Amino acid sequence: MSVLLGCIADDFTGATDLASFLVQSGMKTVQLIGIPNGPIDLSDADAVVIALKSRTLPSNLAVEQSIAALKWLKKLNCEQYYFKYCSTFDSTEKGNIGPVTDAMLDELGESFTIICPALPVNGRTVYKGNLFVNDDLLSESGMKNHPLTPMLDSNLMRIMAAQASSSVGLVPLEVVSKGSECIQQAFSELAKTHRYAVVDTICNEDLYSIGKACSDLKLLTGGSGLSVGLAKNFQNKGLFEIRNNSAELSKVKGDAVVLSGSCSVMTQKQVARFKENARSMKISPLDISSGKTTLEDFLTWFDQNRSTGTLMFYATDTPENIKHVQDQLGIEKASETVENFMAELVSALDKKGVTKYIVAGGETSGAVVKALKPAMLKIGGSIAPGIPLTEIAGDFPKLVALKSGNFGDEDFFEKALGMMA
Ligand code: ADP
Repeated sequence: MSVLLGCIADDFTGATDLASFLVQSGMKTVQLIGIPNGPIDLSDADAVVIALKSRTLPSNLAVEQSIAALKWLKKLNCEQYYFKYCSTFDSTEKGNIGPVTDAMLDELGESFTIICPALPVNGRTVYKGNLFVNDDLLSESGMKNHPLTPMLDSNLMRIMAAQASSSVGLVPLEVVSKGSECIQQAFSELAKTHRYAVVDTICNEDLYSIGKACSDLKLLTGGSGLSVGLAKNFQNKGLFEIRNNSAELSKVKGDAVVLSGSCSVMTQKQVARFKENARSMKISPLDISSGKTTLEDFLTWFDQNRSTGTLMFYATDTPENIKHVQDQLGIEKASETVENFMAELVSALDKKGVTKYIVAGGETSGAVVKALKPAMLKIGGSIAPGIPLTEIAGDFPKLVALKSGNFGDEDFFEKALGMMA
């Protein structure tokens, strides 16, 4: 049995998000942290997701890493390839989604793909090419204040055209709602003159129709939602049988911590709620960079408080406070300070025997997972849409929940802890 779907995600939470949806759709899925250094057993995998941390890299590096991952996946001879980005199309002003999509098309010798970030179950929909977050246009949602990828335009055709090499078409909702055959016809028409087609999507049914219409495209690009119909395509082609595949995770003893570096509106609520019943310590990028507080301070506090229950470390702050920090340190240095600190903290907590990590923030998760150095993650059951419980397997297994910014309900941290118990 060969790997059917080879995926590349531009951040770590995006990778677990996609892996979670694939597992739920019936595909046995392995998530790799970067390109593996040595041989790895994928004999039983239907899908492989390579997690990169390329979303906010300079474009040339994002392209380089994505193409290296694609070349590695090509050796598996996958039926289809999938570039996974965020359902809020998070990209820098210069944009990595366009250049990476272009380079992947070239590498595969293809000339057309779709742009489908929608994830209706989490309130991300696309209408007339405009991306909505719940009731708001993307540019009027909390994403306008994102510390690294502020999204100030909602029109996907315009954003993509600014980032990529060619013109962008649209498959409008009127076509999508007529079903997969009409969508496929629209793809064929658009492919004569365009390299990419944004696809309107307002509900899950649309995602199934779009997925079905994509069955012959070599490269797909989108959020995790686009993946929901793919298992059915492979089954219809007689390539595999849908099976129940969330991995049975180990029972793990030991302390848990919550680490939050996301500043999204939902994460702010989750942090505020968790603080009501747990002790927490705030990470101030200004105090860290000036040396006013050190890793030792945090570790001493951890030792003094670990017996009281699950502790939380958070850098999460309001847009005004983040702007103040960024004005003092610069945008990159501010994020780097938080991410590097989180990574050092996690390495130290790991040595102190912490075995369960609940992490909020895509970039933050990247920093945390790199510190824990797994080669791969086992994907377990879903805590919330797009957020599975995962395990770093080994002699001393660890449980990890990685949450991208706006995902999960207000009680997400408590729910994740409950599933880790
Ligand atoms: P999300 O999933 O919400 O996008 P990320 O972790 O991807 O969250 O991005 C948040 C970024 O903001 C990270 O790079 C993080 O280091 C940075 N950050 C977090 N807290 C602060 C802060 N107080 N000041 C400045 N930057 C911060």
